[in-house]
Amino acid sequence: MSLAAMRCVGNENTLHVEELALSDIANRFGTPCYVYSRKALTAAFAAYRDTLQAHGMLEQSMICYAVKANSNLAVLNLFARLGAGFDIVSVGELARVIAAGGSPDKIVFSGVGKSSAEMREALKAKIHCFNVESASELDQLSEIAGSVGLRAPVSLRVNPDVDPKTHPYISTGLKSTKFGVAFGEAFELYRRAATLPHIAVKGIDCHIGSQLLDPAPAAEATGKILELVDRLAAAGIALEHIDLGGGMGVQYRAEEPAPSAADYLGPMLKMLAGRREKLLFEPGRSLVGNAGLLLTRVEVLKHGEEKNFAVVDAAMNDLMRPALYDAWHDIVKVGAGDTAASKAMPYEIVGPVCESGDFLGHDRKLALKEGDLLAILSAGAYGMAMASNYNSRPRAAEVMVDGEAVHLVRRREDISQLFALESTLP
Ligand SMILES: *Cc1c(COP(=O)(O)O)cnc(C)c1O
Repeated sequence: MSLAAMRCVGNENTLHVEELALSDIANRFGTPCYVYSRKALTAAFAAYRDTLQAHGMLEQSMICYAVKANSNLAVLNLFARLGAGFDIVSVGELARVIAAGGSPDKIVFSGVGKSSAEMREALKAKIHCFNVESASELDQLSEIAGSVGLRAPVSLRVNPDVDPKTHPYISTGLKSTKFGVAFGEAFELYRRAATLPHIAVKGIDCHIGSQLLDPAPAAEATGKILELVDRLAAAGIALEHIDLGGGMGVQYRAEEPAPSAADYLGPMLKMLAGRREKLLFEPGRSLVGNAGLLLTRVEVLKHGEEKNFAVVDAAMNDLMRPALYDAWHDIVKVGAGDTAASKAMPYEIVGPVCESGDFLGHDRKLALKEGDLLAILSAGAYGMAMASNYNSRPRAAEVMVDGEAVHLVRRREDISQLFALESTLP
């Protein structure tokens, strides 16, 4: 979080989320702990809605939150209450959305490797649309839909071969990635889909990558998609909706500003002005990234010959992005009142996991002592959702702040849960 929802107040100058001091949250729920702000989540969703409204396109649009970014039930429930649809990538996510009160007819199902069981389940749930990513998936889906006596609503995820200029692990719209149907093959595949008795061709989908800071690639992709939509219409295949995916970046550091929803969506929406198709969007990170932080406590300070280490109680299993993408998260002290007691120096902020890749931040200039609380900011997206039990570490608690209230939205795991599904040899 690095927004209005977080601020420094009070005598000790402790960091607050909405009306609550992070030090109080740590005392009550322990660390490591993910902290989300209802206000910040709501504001991020409103930014999309307001932009669509400003372009006169709210009525024809559906904002399908990409569940994989943060799939906590309270987060999903909040978005469902705000009127969101959902973009899922597994039946696990389907079950979460339904448990959180989301409606199946606002769900789109993405992913390159849906199993037949998943297709069957989603068909029975009557989801809005399958985003089909290959010719083979189309055939499998058609067959399964036939076997349960249903027609599968389908979009093809088309790969526009546009470079999103982001980290290679989160680029998805280039020819070389595993995602989507090649642009040059999409037209023929639509013609074939239109002949399949158990397939209902509904739309087109495209998602070129994540953490996009420049609106230009998304607009370029939109142009290519629209050209294909018009070519299909001329051939008698009229699509009902255009799904432009997610991918809008968020600001992780001061030097790298992210576009606002208005800046990012504006160029795309201008190209879509006057069109009759419904519009779908699949934002993940931009709805949750800056609405969450990870609260952690300094366990040990180690002053080495070359480097100083601050070993904290959160690790790569709690927040994998630094280890996985070399991602940068701002790390700040929660209580700033007692800096005189320690001297600011560059620290490697690391976890206790047995991997050299287990770091949360390099070279951070902080005045620290053992027991200090730190907040790892902008951790609402792909944080807890990617957490694991590596090193047999129970996963962190998650709480949501709502004004002066705080709700525990996921209990900290118990040690006993770690191996509850395992057994010894007979
Ligand atoms: C991950 C994903 C999204 C969300 O991406 P963000 O960068 O988090 O907005 C949307 N659509 C698809 C198909 C995805 O795989």
